[in-house]
Amino acid sequence: MAEQVIYLNGEFVTKENAKVSVYDHGFLYGDGIFEGIRIYNGNIFKCKEHLNRLYDSAKSIMLDIPLSYEEMEAALVETIQRNDMQDGYIRLVVSRGPGNLGLDPKRCPSAWVIIIVEQLAIYPEEAYKNGLISVSVSQRRNIPDALNPKIKSLNYLNNILVKIQANLAGVGEAIMLNSQGYVAEGSSDNIFIIKNDVVYTPPCYVGALEGITRAAIMELCDKLGYTLKEIPFTLHDVYVADEVFFTGTAAEVIAVREVDGRTIGTGKAGPITTHLLEEFRKLVDIDGVQVFK
Ligand code: PMP
Repeated sequence: MAEQVIYLNGEFVTKENAKVSVYDHGFLYGDGIFEGIRIYNGNIFKCKEHLNRLYDSAKSIMLDIPLSYEEMEAALVETIQRNDMQDGYIRLVVSRGPGNLGLDPKRCPSAWVIIIVEQLAIYPEEAYKNGLISVSVSQRRNIPDALNPKIKSLNYLNNILVKIQANLAGVGEAIMLNSQGYVAEGSSDNIFIIKNDVVYTPPCYVGALEGITRAAIMELCDKLGYTLKEIPFTLHDVYVADEVFFTGTAAEVIAVREVDGRTIGTGKAGPITTHLLEEFRKLVDIDGVQVFK
């Protein structure tokens, strides 16, 4: 791999020189947005979907991204090419930019755009077969009418508090409920359950990010003939499910074998989860933007 370079406001700098101001409102207030994107065999998987979500998040929080959609895509491609990265993870951050200590975004004249490309630490292949152990946590999801989880903002404290509880329980991913007790999502993954061959995932209004992997799995269910229902469900439904899995850019489709001490199904990745993972992996290096043409 080439020496790592980071895109910082139109320039390519080394890791040591990739520095952000202490007055940056992303740093001071979590005021900004981001995307986590995956490159598979030189393909930016679901590039369009990630950029659409980024620009929608920006519009929602009235953040002017200083690059057009086309310029942003070109910046992603060039960053990957300069890093000669065939397989890896892209972190695209747009912060409100440097301002003063007050929280008023009017004091931030221009947004900052940062693109970091890195190797990805992923679950071992064994975890995809045997499944993860997970727990539910007491930390509740931000309510959508206060901070809509559809906005992929830099304000991830809600998720970090879930991750802290997951760490304390010694698990890699935990299940977060919303303020009404419905299952929302993981700290950084969407959740699905399967019961009697029907696939369920919570609607985003319950308090879930509109995950790109979630959408890909919903499309695959349709294509493969699995009935999918987007309805709220509770922890009880998770405990008695035949299969449970998380989805996310980094995690892909990862089975859960135990939740709060209850064995899920047969205690390993179930047949529908395994089928969906196999079909998902057939898409990852074709559905997107090819970087090394
Ligand atoms: N929920 C949250 C809170 C996340 O941060 C992520 C990761 N981006 C996901 C779900 C999964 O979304 P995606 O499939 O787009 O990675």
